[in-house]
Amino acid sequence: MRVFCRECGERGRITKTQRFSLDTSDLYCQCTDAECGHCWVMQMSYSRQLSPSAKTTTQLALQLLRQLPKENRQFILDGLQQA
Ligand SMILES: [Zn+2]
Repeated sequence: MRVFCRECGERGRITKTQRFSLDTSDLYCQCTDAECGHCWVMQMSYSRQLSPSAKTTTQLALQLLRQLPKENRQFILDGLQQA
């Protein structure tokens, strides 16, 4: 992740990340221009999902399959092999 100094436009370096939750963090940043020396804090947060995680959907499918009676599971597995 790239950050830029708002004072001089040079690249910044993230020196520390303080995570508050799964979705929010404070990023402590420092300008890479030694003559500038600007330090600042940026907030990073989760905004929205563009595509669901394959891991999540796979886990969800596994949980649903495990809850089915054995014969229903086999029906689904047979259906998947025909597809
Ligand atoms: Zn700067």
